[in-house]
Order: sequence, then structure tokens, then C-alpha cells
Amino acid sequence: MATLLIRNARYIVSCDDKDTLWEHANLFIRDNVIEYIGERRMQADQCIDASDLILYPGLINTHHHLFRIFSRNLPEVQSMGLLPWLRALYGMWRHLDGESVYWSSLAGMGELLKSGCTTCLDHHYVFPAGVGDLLANQFRAAALAGMRFHAARGSMDLSEKDGALPPDSLVQSMDEILADSERLVKVWHDESRFSMRQVALAPCSLFSASADLMRESAALARRLGVRLHTHAAGTRDEERYVLERFGMRPAAYLATLGWTGTDVWYAHGIRLNDSDLHLLAETGTGVAHCPVSNMQRASGVCRVPEMLRLGIPVGLGSDGASSNLLEELRTAYLLHRLAAGTGAPDGYQLLKLATRGSAQLLGRDDLGALAPNMAADLFAVSLDKLALVGAQFDPKALLCTVGCGGPVDYTIVNGVAVVQKGELTTFDEARAAARANLAARRYLRR
Ligand SMILES: [Zn+2]
Repeated sequence: MATLLIRNARYIVSCDDKDTLWEHANLFIRDNVIEYIGERRMQADQCIDASDLILYPGLINTHHHLFRIFSRNLPEVQSMGLLPWLRALYGMWRHLDGESVYWSSLAGMGELLKSGCTTCLDHHYVFPAGVGDLLANQFRAAALAGMRFHAARGSMDLSEKDGALPPDSLVQSMDEILADSERLVKVWHDESRFSMRQVALAPCSLFSASADLMRESAALARRLGVRLHTHAAGTRDEERYVLERFGMRPAAYLATLGWTGTDVWYAHGIRLNDSDLHLLAETGTGVAHCPVSNMQRASGVCRVPEMLRLGIPVGLGSDGASSNLLEELRTAYLLHRLAAGTGAPDGYQLLKLATRGSAQLLGRDDLGALAPNMAADLFAVSLDKLALVGAQFDPKALLCTVGCGGPVDYTIVNGVAVVQKGELTTFDEARAAARANLAARRYLRR
């Protein structure tokens, strides 16, 4: 049994049920679990002096597409609207293989860990024929990086021949999708407390998944006891498409397909009117808020203040736009201040959205807070730097009000310090960046 003591922390922002803010306290970890927080003097195998550090619960990313970091800065598509942008990118994504998925995942996970993110859900929905088990490459990268990883098995069964966007070569039949989803759950899904790997089922969107695929995926997920995730109510185009085709708004239509409930969360949830919001609140359906992506794609402003008031579960996501969750958190704060003024959530409410809220979306009551019997997932920021001079008076809000772009000083996942003094400990960052850039060039050249 290994023990780790984080001694004399300047502050511990616990995000626990009582919103406890500890000052000059010790946090004691046994193996992968927090055993004690308080002022008692303790001994441990390893010790970190935290007299200049603020400790926060690890941030949780509830919607990412790690493979898209290789195509995140291409001049030919930067200024396009959502649909032409997707059409252009599908032409590149068809060349994905095990190598590009592995290296984009490892690079993104390294960046996430350095920005205080300890758990990542990745929504992978592009499965070209004959490239092998792509999600196995993601789990392999997560094991090396030391990241807690949830894979959302994406799927598409509608293509150009059905009037949808994806090329015919990138979609799979419903039978193929369901069989592979069940296989992945059996191989990778660990539902135990403090689990490091889980699987969710995640048809891509109503644009590219048929009603049958949505219904059957929901039935399969409930039979297997895993969660359901999809893109929904993200754009005006989608709203118009669903209204014209099915005579209903996206959220109401998803409800008819079995896609509401406490085991379901949508990415984006921007185009939601008052009755849609009530539907989400009544059913406990959640939303992954992805502010940087929403601003970059000019999709609109998610109604986060109203969602929080109604008790809708909301978490934070990065949606392939970035892998820096501290930047997402700060952007969320600024975006809602701009849009809602004094009606916006405060900095601490947004921190709780990115920790407790995100954990709820993933169905994890062992993550999101620093308290005994919670997973030992946290990050620490030193107050002893120029960028944070004068910032110490409200540690709960600091990450939003002042901002801290990273790298953080420490990140601990499952009891292991994967970032120490701002550097990754699990792999060589410079070598991985060079190798990942090589993989990106090979993939884009195809
Ligand atoms: Zn997305």
C-alpha cells in the first residue's frame, strides 16, 4: 500500500457538499483514494510540500474528439460554416488509422493533464473500414499517460446516399455498430468504484444516425448498464432539419427515441427553448457545455444560467477545439458574463460545473470533489508566480476570474502524480510532440 501526503496546503477548494474551503490543511492519499483531509500531522511514503499551493478536484472533460486535434488549424477550412466545414473535414477523417488515433490521443491527453483535467470522455465516431480497433489505441494512450478515460463509441449509419453529410465509406451498418459497441463494453467497461476506463454509446447526431440506430443504441446501453451521449440542439441547421423532417424540435424528438433520462447527456444543447429546458429538467437529461467550440463555430450561447437554475445537470467539454480545460473554464466564465451579466454563474459555480457537474454526467459519484473516500484526482496551482499576484483572496473563483492557462504545478490521477512541477512524468513530452507531429503530417498527406 502506497501513501502520499500533500502537506500544509495553502488552500484546498474541496467542491464537497458543504463547499468546504480548507486553509493550511493536509490531504492524505492511500493508494488511489483520499483517506483524510484536515490538520492532523501524518507520515507517508511520499510527501509534497503544498505551502504555496491551492488544491482543486481534477477537472472532467465530458465531450472531446481527440482525433480532431490533428485538423484543428487548417487554413483552408478555418472560416467555413458548420456544414461545409464538416463536409471538408470528412474528406480528411476518412484517412484516420491506428497511428493517427493513438498519437492524437496521447498528445491531447498530455495537454489535458497539464491543464488540470484528470478524466476525459472522448466521443470517437469515425471508423474507416479495415483500420482495426481504434478505441484500443485510445485506451493504450490513456494507460501510458495515466488519464482516467471514458470512450464514447460513436456511430453513423446515414451517408451521402441517404442525403446525409458523411461519405459512404465512413458509415457502418446498424448491426455492425451494435455488435462492436457490445464487444467494446465487454472488453473495456469497468463499472467498479474508482474505475479508470468506461464505455458509453454515442451515435454522432440526428444528421448522421437513423432513428433505428438511436433507438437500438438506447436499448443496448440500458441492457448493458452504460450511458448514452450524442450531439444535440447544437445549431440552427440541426433544429431546422429535425423540425422539417420529423415535425418536432430536437429535444422533443430525442425523447420519442428513448434519448432522455439521467443516463443521457447531449453535447452543446444551445438551441433549446423553455419547454425543451423543462423536458431536460424533468427527465434529468444533461448537457456538456463546450464554450470555445461554440464560439469558434459561431453556434450561439448555451443557456447555462437557466439550466443551473432549473437543476439540469451541466458539465464542461472541449469538443475537439482545444485540450486545455482551464481555458474552457475561463472562457465559459467570460462568455456568460458577456451574455447574461449579473445573472451569470459566478466563478465557483463554474468550477463546480467542471468538477461535480461533469462527474454527474459521467455517472461518477467517486469523482469531482476532494473528500474522504473520493478518488485521489486533483491538481495544484502555485500562488507563488507573477501571473497570480493579488489573486489569492478568492481561491474558489480564481480559475475563472483571474484565469490560469497552465501548465498547473501538479496533477494527480488515481493517486499518481502525472504532472510534477509543471512537467509530465508518464512520458517524454518533447519526443511525443515530435512523434505526434510526424503522425499528423503522414495522416494529412494521405
Ligand atoms: Zn462534438
